This record gives sequence, structure tokens and C-alpha cells, in this order.
Amino acid sequence: MSPSFHELQLHPALVKVAGELGYERPTRIQTLAIPPLIAGRDVIGKSKTGSGKTAAFVLPMLQGLDLERRELQALVLCPTRELAAQVRGEVRTLGRGLPGLVTAELVGGQPARGQRESLARGVHVAVGTPGRIMDLLGTGSMEPSTLRILVLDEADRMLDMGFIPDIERIFQLTPFTRQTLF
Ligand code: AMP
Repeated sequence: MSPSFHELQLHPALVKVAGELGYERPTRIQTLAIPPLIAGRDVIGKSKTGSGKTAAFVLPMLQGLDLERRELQALVLCPTRELAAQVRGEVRTLGRGLPGLVTAELVGGQPARGQRESLARGVHVAVGTPGRIMDLLGTGSMEPSTLRILVLDEADRMLDMGFIPDIERIFQLTPFTRQTLF
């Protein structure tokens, strides 16, 4: 039998929410990915949609935040706006037991102004698409120096869609010491 969420060393507030959501046990990708991610290692994970892969990176990412510091600590890049909205929703749901958690969705197709204002007020986690994130970095609206966790969700699809130059640039702008997840 697979270990419990508690046995994976997840924070009790995160274990509690997983229980409330009816997640009885970690899925295979969660069992394999959560321990090295909590340990701060870079991880490349591959698994199908529906396998619980979003929670596999969101849970340890939430655990790694310092909520006392209202600055950008984790950035999730997604190939599409729809996926970004979904991932941000999961960050909020899984993070509902963490007081003060602030998240932002940074995608194209909507005015950048509100997004710039949220960043200026301070967010812990941003989820978005590469084009809009490049714009926000380019105008200085987004401060990359405090980032500790960078996630490329569906990285293969982003590469197929021609986002390589944007992603390379984002890699260059974020601290070398960051934890990186594919
Ligand atoms: P994903 O692979 O990220 O698209 O997740 C598919 C679905 O599985 C989502 O609706 C999650 O809410 C759900 N899920 C994630 N982890 C678990 C788990 N350990 N047990 C049951 N359901 C889960």
C-alpha cells in the first residue's frame, strides 16, 4: 500500500485539506515526487492528466513558501490560459488552510493592469502563460529575484508551441539557486 500524505512529511494543514477533498492516499506520481520536492531537489515528472500531477507539485510548492514574506516565491508556467486558471484554482483550493496565502493568475487576453497591481501588492504564487509573464518581467512589474520555485507545467507542450525563447529568458532572469520542476 502507498504511504499516507502524512508519511510523505506534508504539513498537517495540507494533509487536512487533502483529506477534506477526499484524497485518501497519494497517487503514484505524488508518492514519487513529493518527498524529493520537499527536500528541495529539482524534479522532472511525467504522468497522464488525471493522475494527480497538479497536486504532486502544488502541495510541496505550498509547503516551501514563507507566508510571512509577501513576495513572489513560486512561479508556475503553463502552455494555455485554461490550464493556468485550473492550476491556480488548485493552488487556492489546496492552500486554503494556509492563512494569508496570496496567488495571482498572469495570462494574456485580459488587461495587464490588474495583474500589475496584484504583483505590486505582493503575491506568494503566480501562475501564468509565458507571453504575459515575459511582458510583466520586461516592464519591471514582476520581480524575479525572490523566486525560489519555478514550475513548467506541461513543459513538452510549451516547447512544441514555440515558447522556448521565452522560457530560456525566464530561466536567465530567475535566481540560479531556484528549485526547478518540469
Ligand atoms: P490532475 O492529474 O492534476 O489533472 O488531477 C486529476 C484529478 O485528481 C483532480 O481533480 C484532483 O482533484 C484529483 N486528485 C489529485 N490527487 C488526488 C488523490 N491523491 N486522490 C484522489 N484524487 C486526487
